[in-house]
Amino acid sequence: MQTLDLSEEEYSLLKNTPVCLAGYQHESVVDGPGVRTAVFFQGCDFHCPGCHNAGTHDKSGGTAVTAFDVYAEIYGSKLAKGVTFSGGEPFLQEEALLALAKVCKAKGRHITVYTGHEVSELLTICTAERAELRRKILACADLVITGRFVQELKTAEKPFVGSSNQELYELAVNNPWK
Ligand code: SF4
Repeated sequence: MQTLDLSEEEYSLLKNTPVCLAGYQHESVVDGPGVRTAVFFQGCDFHCPGCHNAGTHDKSGGTAVTAFDVYAEIYGSKLAKGVTFSGGEPFLQEEALLALAKVCKAKGRHITVYTGHEVSELLTICTAERAELRRKILACADLVITGRFVQELKTAEKPFVGSSNQELYELAVNNPWK
């Protein structure tokens, strides 16, 4: 399969993986290092007061697409060297997040993932099956940004976060899940 530089296996994985999406930000420079395609997953249970993406919370909202559709959007940007998975809470849709992270990583994209979970929660407040998927996602990620948005701690000083409690982990040098 030559479509969008995908192998048969990659194409089939992406085409058969559904994802509920809130939208995209093409050529973003605020959702991680460099120029990136930001992909906003639909659905979040945290409901942080003051969340700047409140429209992404409703799990029955958004647009139903396939991971292939998302990949096509990412592939379409020649300027963006990275991809950011945000939301919403991307870890509510682990299968789709894993499929996209895996294929994008294989194509040489820098992978950033946002989560409202704290480090200690990500692999523990879920089933063992979900935790296994989350480990595989983390194995594809370069940068993970954790924690809920706290309005009282809102900051413009710390890069790529909304509030100062949120943490950035460059997994090659600091992987708290190892
Ligand atoms: S975790 Fe993120 S998307 Fe979810 S409510 Fe908090 S700030 Fe909004």
